[in-house]
Amino acid sequence: MSAIVLDGTQIAAQIKSEVGEEVKELTAAGLRPGLAVVLVGHNPASEIYVRNKVKSCEQLGIYSEKHTPPDNVTTEELLALVADLNRRDEIDGILVQLPLPPQVDAKKVLLAVSPEKDVDGFHPMNVGYLSTQRPGLVPCTPAGIVEILKRSGIAIAGAEAVVVGRSDIVGKPVAMLLLNGNATVTVCHSKTRDLAAVCRRADILIAAIGKAGMITPDFVKPGATVIDVGMNTVTDPAEFKQFFAGNEKRERDFAAKGSTLMGDVHPKVLQVAGAITPVPGGVGPLTIAMLMSNTVKAAKLRRGNAVGVLAGR
Ligand code: NDP
Repeated sequence: MSAIVLDGTQIAAQIKSEVGEEVKELTAAGLRPGLAVVLVGHNPASEIYVRNKVKSCEQLGIYSEKHTPPDNVTTEELLALVADLNRRDEIDGILVQLPLPPQVDAKKVLLAVSPEKDVDGFHPMNVGYLSTQRPGLVPCTPAGIVEILKRSGIAIAGAEAVVVGRSDIVGKPVAMLLLNGNATVTVCHSKTRDLAAVCRRADILIAAIGKAGMITPDFVKPGATVIDVGMNTVTDPAEFKQFFAGNEKRERDFAAKGSTLMGDVHPKVLQVAGAITPVPGGVGPLTIAMLMSNTVKAAKLRRGNAVGVLAGR
């Protein structure tokens, strides 16, 4: 048996096309959604993420602007920039790309983003809205995971869901979303006893750990849905071989780049799971699609009533 591979790239394209239609409607009503991205310094990975976010805005017709303060920016300077973006009516979403340099008080900066414009969904106000099931902005990766499940016809209500990882960015919010969707949810972490046995209870297993190939077949109930959130860069040839020996496409990729991107789930899980998200091409593409969707949602929640566009649709 081999699991159905859930195509995140295709689902993300579908969501983006729906969001693009909404952007057209909103723009015609004089309410073009706008996203401001703040990118401090020159972190190469952050630069790629931000470039992709800005490119997606352009594709969908969302107004975007990029602010690039230098590496030695102070907390006060960033707070002033965020305050200005909070004030501007045409800016619906503010995204402060992490990580911030060590001299900056990152928590203070994130807390300063108006909850109405917090398209990352990290502000404590939005965390509270999520846990009390009020309309608000939900973190992009967890929201994307739920979209994959829903659009692939995988029932959440009544399912046993096990989430491995309890970060504020992925583990906790995805657990809350699944609970809100009436799953029976267990959240695991590095202190969980007999992790494999707990994971084997899952109809839906979410791996958000950051450890290459840690979830092996003995963690997975036959037929379960496995969502692999991990993004790990493997550079050690011995480690690569252990996971991908005989996989020609991966071998070509590794020979060309000296590295390969893999998730937290071991490739052999494909033979046990019922459905699985690949890495790359699974959860990753959904994160940007949901950022676009959150920007439109933020525009509607904050400004929609002014032009009679239904908020929160
Ligand atoms: P964190 O490092 O913040 O959290 C990792 C979690 O995994 C922690 O709760 C930790 O437990 C748990 N953990 C670590 N080791 C073990 C272990 N041996 N057994 C059980 N649990 C363990 O990571 P993030 O949540 O930010 O990210 C997780 C992964 O998802 C990363 O690979 C990241 O790159 C990826 N990611 C992918 C995104 C995408 O768009 N596809 C977006 C965001 C993240 P404890 O709390 O006890 O330390």
